[in-house]
Amino acid sequence: MPHLAQLIYRSKATPLFKRGDLLHFIQNIALANKRQGLTGLLIFDGEYFLQVIEGRQRQLDAMLEVLRHDARHESIVMLRLDAIKERAFPEWGMSLAPLRERDQPPPGWAHGVDAMHLLELPDEVIQRGDDRLHMIIDDFLQGRWRQDAEQARSSVQPIRTTPAQRLAPRTAHSLDIGFAFQPILDTASEELRAVEALIRGLDGQSPAEVLGRYSGNEVYRFDLESKAIAIEQFAALDVDCHLALNVLPMTLANIKNSTSFLLEALDRHGLTPERLVLEVTEEEAITKPHVFITNMQALRAAGVRVAIDDFGAGYAGLSLLSEFQPDELKIDRMLVRAIHEHGPRQAILRAVVDFCRAMGIEMVAEGVEQTQEYRWLRRAGISCFQGYLFSRPLFQGIGEIRWHEFSPATNE
Ligand code: C2E
Ligand code: MN
Ligand code: MN
Repeated sequence: MPHLAQLIYRSKATPLFKRGDLLHFIQNIALANKRQGLTGLLIFDGEYFLQVIEGRQRQLDAMLEVLRHDARHESIVMLRLDAIKERAFPEWGMSLAPLRERDQPPPGWAHGVDAMHLLELPDEVIQRGDDRLHMIIDDFLQGRWRQDAEQARSSVQPIRTTPAQRLAPRTAHSLDIGFAFQPILDTASEELRAVEALIRGLDGQSPAEVLGRYSGNEVYRFDLESKAIAIEQFAALDVDCHLALNVLPMTLANIKNSTSFLLEALDRHGLTPERLVLEVTEEEAITKPHVFITNMQALRAAGVRVAIDDFGAGYAGLSLLSEFQPDELKIDRMLVRAIHEHGPRQAILRAVVDFCRAMGIEMVAEGVEQTQEYRWLRRAGISCFQGYLFSRPLFQGIGEIRWHEFSPATNE
């Protein structure tokens, strides 16, 4: 049997939505909802909606899709979509919560908000549903999210491009591989911070395919030796920024003198250890944390920067961070994707930003494809970015870079 579920989302009313239409609007949805077995609650503070809808999971998924194309709503953020045991609002087709005025403005309330917003929910609503529902409603009424929501006023414009550069075809080498390079930008200072070297077969094969050619300890030796080619290609590109390299943590642990191998390769091309950032994924680091930490400290002692890659991709990253703080944290696309419309990802990201600020760790958002993702992340305080929005990896070269101007708040 399909689950009963509850969807809670927040959205902003566009000018297409006229305040005078509210009652009419409510009556219409209330009727339609009743027919479809949907129940719920609508809170409207004069500017933003908070809507709770209860029904079958499939109906709610469909509803969220319809909303995204409804011109009367914008800045839609999904806050909860979850199975529930019973409805919190069984008899309400879709009621407008009767709001009453608060005595005092809630703390953290944005300035310039008129009295219409200073409201609080009556007891008959507070007595319904579970604690989580109450906390979400309370958070809506407190309005701390407003700062994020107001990002609709900030703008992102493409401004200029940096042309691509390609390496001359490489002369024969003992390993059948090359590297694609992808820029990592500091978009606040408009500087190229780093390029990341991504391993490829000579016919463009993926990292998984290339590393899959080797088994047992051979993969670690290959992983390390391939980095000499990445360093050589980076040096030939002659860009004034860091070089980010991916390694398996076991490469550092299992291959003797791996650190000096890397440092010598850099030195051959006149590069200092400070130019290197080693990226290690959270997944691999976590399986043998002690080996991992020992190796990372050795690299740091040599002057190399270390980054935790793919943070948030599904491993126990927080416990790792409590034991070891890297120089950089790369936030995985899993957390970045559609962040502007996803409440849970937003809350996680804000916590990670706080943590990194407190610990002096630089953050890089990976896999940024949409301007809305970029805008949200900039507003949240991140300034380093990697992703197709800015530049795609280019085999034996650095692709064109598309720079974007970010203006925090242009008043419409
Ligand atoms: P990674 O280090 O997280 O590298 C970023 C990956 O995300 C790259 O995939 C890149 O092409 C892709 N990417 C970049 N921007 C976007 C975007 O906007 N959207 C999407 N959907 N994807 C984006 P790639 O090159 O296939 O690499 C996959 C993984 O393979 C890397 O993930 C890294 O963990 C590993 N890898 C790459 N080179 C090496 C290497 O030399 N040694 C080892 N051990 N692992 C490597
Ligand atoms: Mn990486
Ligand atoms: Mn990554």
